[in-house]
Amino acid sequence: MRRQYLTERLDCLSKWLLPPTCVVCGGNSKHRDLCHDCALALPWNDSCCARCALPLAVTAAYCGKCATRPPPWSQAKSPFVYDFPVDSLLRQLKFSRRLPNGRVLGELTAEWVASFDESKPDLLIPVPLHWRRQLGRQFNQATEIARPIQRRLNIPISERLCKRSHYTPQQSGLSAGARKRNLRNAFVVRGDVSNTHIAIIDDIMTTGSTLAELSKALLRAGAEQVDVWTVARVTGAGLSYPPPVREGDKET
Ligand SMILES: [Zn+2]
Ligand SMILES: [Zn+2]
Repeated sequence: MRRQYLTERLDCLSKWLLPPTCVVCGGNSKHRDLCHDCALALPWNDSCCARCALPLAVTAAYCGKCATRPPPWSQAKSPFVYDFPVDSLLRQLKFSRRLPNGRVLGELTAEWVASFDESKPDLLIPVPLHWRRQLGRQFNQATEIARPIQRRLNIPISERLCKRSHYTPQQSGLSAGARKRNLRNAFVVRGDVSNTHIAIIDDIMTTGSTLAELSKALLRAGAEQVDVWTVARVTGAGLSYPPPVREGDKET
């Protein structure tokens, strides 16, 4: 409690000393690092499949794929479609360590999830990076997104419960089949998750193969329910190729 109180006080102090700047337009903002106009113009994922968050053109509960072959998790939430400027904000977070982007996108994800008024998970698990990749990047973008969700919704994060058991090549650039083969038994659960409701946190969902593999590992370990919360969902058109890597996007 004391720690949360101190974190909130420090947050107020830093906002007073350094007023928030919008991560999209660079203008001044009143409450957080995103101004009102830019927030309204974001590519909100208003009509989507309840199971995999794929945007749907027609009003339906599930997409065709989930109706026939549902994923291992129970529900997916993704407030945005992977489109401008969310795609740029996520690339800047991942490749240029723009941490305010993670903070603001995590806050928006928390508010989006809370708007459904459903039962809260017991635990947040950011998709873990292999220690070699984390050493190179020095941070995990999924954890940067999970932290504001933890603060907003008061749900604990566990970064140590799951780990990557082997080093896998970057998923982007691989076909859906290669992604699956690449990820087989990629995660190990190192603790008791029996009867827990878990939300896995990540930046984007493309084919969902990483999220499916981690969900299966958690369900095998006894989790009662696994949900998936990502900032952005790559649309159907984007599924046949990886999100584009633009100039300046490289591992640091
Ligand atoms: Zn703005
Ligand atoms: Zn679906």
